[in-house]
Amino acid sequence: MRNELTFCNKIVNFASVVPLEKCYRYAGNILLKNTLMVFTYHDVSSDPSEFSRTFDLNTSPDVFDYQMRFIADEFNIVSPDDLLENRLPEKAALITFDDGFESYFRKAIPILEKYRIPSIIFLNMSPIKGSVFWAGLITYLCEKREDFKEYLLGKSLGNLRKKTLFLSCDRRLVKAYLDRTDDDLHEEVSKYVGRFATEKELAEASVNSLVYYGNHLFKHDVPLLLSDEELLSSYSRNREELMKYANYRDMFSFPFGQPGTCFFRKQADLLIENGVKKVFNTSGKLNREMGSSCLNRLSLSDSNDTKGKIWLKIFYQMFKGQIMY
Ligand SMILES: [Zn+2]
Repeated sequence: MRNELTFCNKIVNFASVVPLEKCYRYAGNILLKNTLMVFTYHDVSSDPSEFSRTFDLNTSPDVFDYQMRFIADEFNIVSPDDLLENRLPEKAALITFDDGFESYFRKAIPILEKYRIPSIIFLNMSPIKGSVFWAGLITYLCEKREDFKEYLLGKSLGNLRKKTLFLSCDRRLVKAYLDRTDDDLHEEVSKYVGRFATEKELAEASVNSLVYYGNHLFKHDVPLLLSDEELLSSYSRNREELMKYANYRDMFSFPFGQPGTCFFRKQADLLIENGVKKVFNTSGKLNREMGSSCLNRLSLSDSNDTKGKIWLKIFYQMFKGQIMY
């Protein structure tokens, strides 16, 4: 999942009433000439879970289809292997997914196949193997349980922000809270989060030449709260599971994705020193250094449902703030 403000979507929706699609396209051809744009998705569903709706993680199948057609028309889409072997054309684009929702396998793959678009999905294997989805559990507790919020706020954890309280939820704190309650939250959280893919679905899709798997930590912890040893251990545990599939590549996307608030740059360096070939964040920026080991990604959402809105989202992110990598 990602942690992104929706302010830019409001700007994009406002600006997109201007009928300037040809101008946007012309500007895109100039501004994006020697760049790599990495798009990221989570859920592609016509009936998204509360978790996906709350964090703006869903794209409806119709809008996803529209966005894929747009990207295929406007960009030169590359595969993860093209990226690893530095075969990058002008105006390159890569399609990525995070987490491992069932909807990728059931809804997104058929649309991607229709346009012959390769994609990589960064998986955390713990919920796929039946455990509770950690990101779902901590967001559920922060959204739904007043006593948990009070418990967290009572821990003097420093400058906590109400909207992103879950980023302070390390395992020890959550375990100590859960030990005090008799509630079995597994079923409630699973319903809140929605369905994950099964290992059977992973095995079936692993022979699809358009589908690649990458690493998203075993349990989707907040990376910033992990020690170096914990980060590497979670990465390796997940890699062990994913190595069963021939389409696995040593590429990694940071859970929650935002540089600075969710992970440190030195953690990206540590992963690269330990064999990861490409590390992705969700900063929203495009990539001017196409061959870099650390790459930015942009999330398109359900509200980006016209060419104008997609272009404006791209341009808005291009010029917003500092480029982190
Ligand atoms: Zn994630």
